[in-house]
Amino acid sequence: MTRRVRLRFSGIVQGVGFRPFIYRLAVAHGLTGFVQNRPEGVVVEIQGPDENIESFVARCMGELPPLAEVSDLQTEDAQAVSEDSFRIVPSDKEGRPEVHISPDAATCDDCLAELFDPTDRRYCYPFINCTNCGPRLTIITDIPYDRKNTSMHSFPLCEKCRLEYSDPRDRRFHAEPNACPECGPVLSLCDRKGAPMGCPDPIEKTTELLRAGYVVAVKGLGGFHLCADASSSDALIRLRERKYREEKPLAVMVRDLEHARMLARVSPEEERLLAGPERPIVLLRKKESPLISPLVAPGMANLGIMLPYTPLHHLLLDSDFPALVMTSANQTDEPICIDNDEACKRLKGIADYFLLHNRDIVVRCDDSIAMSAQGAPRIMRRSRGYVPRPLVLSRQYPSVLGLGAHLKATAAVLRGDFAFLSPHIGDMETPEARDFFHESISLIKRIAQCDPDIIGCDMHPEYYSSWVASQMECRRVIQVQHHHAHIASCMAENRITGDVIGLAMDGTGYGLDRRIWGGEFLVADEADFQRAGHIRYFPLPGGDAAVKQPWRVAAALLMEVFGTGWGQVAQGLRIIPEHIPLDTVEAVVRQKIQTVFTSSLGRVFDAVSCLLGIRRQVSFEGQAAMELEACADPTVSRVLPYDLLMDREIVLDLYPAVRTIAEEHLAGKPAAALAGAFHATLVHAFVKTAREIRDATGLNRVVLSGGCFQNRLLLEGCITAFDLAGFDVYTHHLVPPNDGGIALGQALVAGTVAG
Ligand code: ZN
Ligand code: ZN
Ligand code: FE
Repeated sequence: MTRRVRLRFSGIVQGVGFRPFIYRLAVAHGLTGFVQNRPEGVVVEIQGPDENIESFVARCMGELPPLAEVSDLQTEDAQAVSEDSFRIVPSDKEGRPEVHISPDAATCDDCLAELFDPTDRRYCYPFINCTNCGPRLTIITDIPYDRKNTSMHSFPLCEKCRLEYSDPRDRRFHAEPNACPECGPVLSLCDRKGAPMGCPDPIEKTTELLRAGYVVAVKGLGGFHLCADASSSDALIRLRERKYREEKPLAVMVRDLEHARMLARVSPEEERLLAGPERPIVLLRKKESPLISPLVAPGMANLGIMLPYTPLHHLLLDSDFPALVMTSANQTDEPICIDNDEACKRLKGIADYFLLHNRDIVVRCDDSIAMSAQGAPRIMRRSRGYVPRPLVLSRQYPSVLGLGAHLKATAAVLRGDFAFLSPHIGDMETPEARDFFHESISLIKRIAQCDPDIIGCDMHPEYYSSWVASQMECRRVIQVQHHHAHIASCMAENRITGDVIGLAMDGTGYGLDRRIWGGEFLVADEADFQRAGHIRYFPLPGGDAAVKQPWRVAAALLMEVFGTGWGQVAQGLRIIPEHIPLDTVEAVVRQKIQTVFTSSLGRVFDAVSCLLGIRRQVSFEGQAAMELEACADPTVSRVLPYDLLMDREIVLDLYPAVRTIAEEHLAGKPAAALAGAFHATLVHAFVKTAREIRDATGLNRVVLSGGCFQNRLLLEGCITAFDLAGFDVYTHHLVPPNDGGIALGQALVAGTVAG
């Protein structure tokens, strides 16, 4: 029997080869009808025998083009008409757009094959792409996604490219960034002053320069990289000196999985992450390898590795580099560079050469960072390759804007049952970063196609974003406690609602009592929370200075734990820098000069790292904790003493554990065993505290969030132990557990409260 059915697909269905896919499938099934881009999605009408229609729909959903993502499919019967073919009909642009923009995607296998095929007209062309790959978000100036609304508008298609672009059977049908050497962007190599060097083969010359140890700024997809030969310690010393980045680990790019395996241990899950179209930097367990300089990631257990994601990267790595360092081109705390002139100006004195091209980057988008823990992917920084793909929420929300935290900032917009997150903005310490923050807010509003009049922001009175919120014209500003936002962000991505036990284990966040929170057990839902417990407060002498100088935290904890005997222990463990007299330290702590109180687990990690002789001072946030994790023996299951003090709130007292660590390390017990025991102790204490809360409330769902859960050992330990204790455990997969997720959590809470 002949039927006609009308299908409406929404989600990421435009600019990803969806219409030609439908066209080919319909023709293969002998169906007639049409496919059309509409503001509300892609509309398809098909007509033919029942069983063909059924098989069409099944294959449709099973064989989607790689970049497509269907968030909703609606089907209804329609009146059969008389027709004899299947057609792609021109777009209908009336109405409010409901389609989403695809993130940038790594070069696909078909394009790669052409790139290295000497007979292909795009042989070695660094801007080859198709409907399944290439730039998307980073070249968009406006919506809808059409060539005229991208930075490709200044490159009129040549005849050959136009034919591909307009042929539904071609894999470049409506590939907006389509280009070739005749009509598309070109590379140019410039000297340190930004003057073109006029060399015939910029890639070959760049490889030569890299091999000679120079630092080259390379224009990429969402910004510039500083690029250097990862095997050359000389090059890395120069790069680190010039970038004022003494120790922070640098990411490397390697040619393929095989090269990644030479530098790190790679699980099947990690292989999928590395090779996926998002191409994040994946944090892998480093192998000792003579192939790269020890200066790439000193002191770290992990090495950040990514595979090439643009044709230009593939061409650069086609020579025999074991790995290239590829680090975001910016000064510390500044956003990544995107503009040619801007790059030449801002990177003056850092880069020796500039490998530029003339396709503008419109949207700044840093590399994303991911890892695998407990066999599942986790995102630590959600940016290029993931943004602006929306998250699907558990229900409809009013339109809300979340402004995020102060470090690792992002912005988020809720609209309907979608959440749109901005690219990673970074730490809002400089005017440039603040400009980028405003840029990102307008970007994410444009992407989400709405201008919310409800705003969620942090409670911290001194955050720049809190000030921005107070200046915005809107109906309502809702302040959301930092750790409630962490838990809400994890609930949002897991689509759970109602009361949960939330563990927010974190660096710092402004608490309701104006103290610095960061080791929190909350009973929370999307609207509100109660603090059910926390890590025992301890003094943080010097406030923010203590973050950079873990020895201050360690000293304060020793004073708390050992009283007057603390000096001997401190001296024995040599935690205080030689030039600082013990009395001065003691006076500062005892008189509470510039001292705040905190329950931050991040700071406890810092202190333990210092006590174990791993790190007294840090050159970047989280360094001491990361090195403590790196040092820890993961096979140790010994639980150190701790107390749970049952007050109005449960107070988790880690002082006994700190005492044991100090005493035993002083007595010669190795750092690895104690660091391992410290991790095991936290896991044990967390489960025990959560059991108490479960007994009191009957809640059985545990949500883990906060920056400390970037620690793989802690995260995996917790998942296993909570599982074993019969809890339902929810963790992050789609948004970062760190402050990169805060904007989403704020938006969810504000949307719930205001809705
Ligand atoms: Zn392609
Ligand atoms: Zn062309
Ligand atoms: Fe946080």
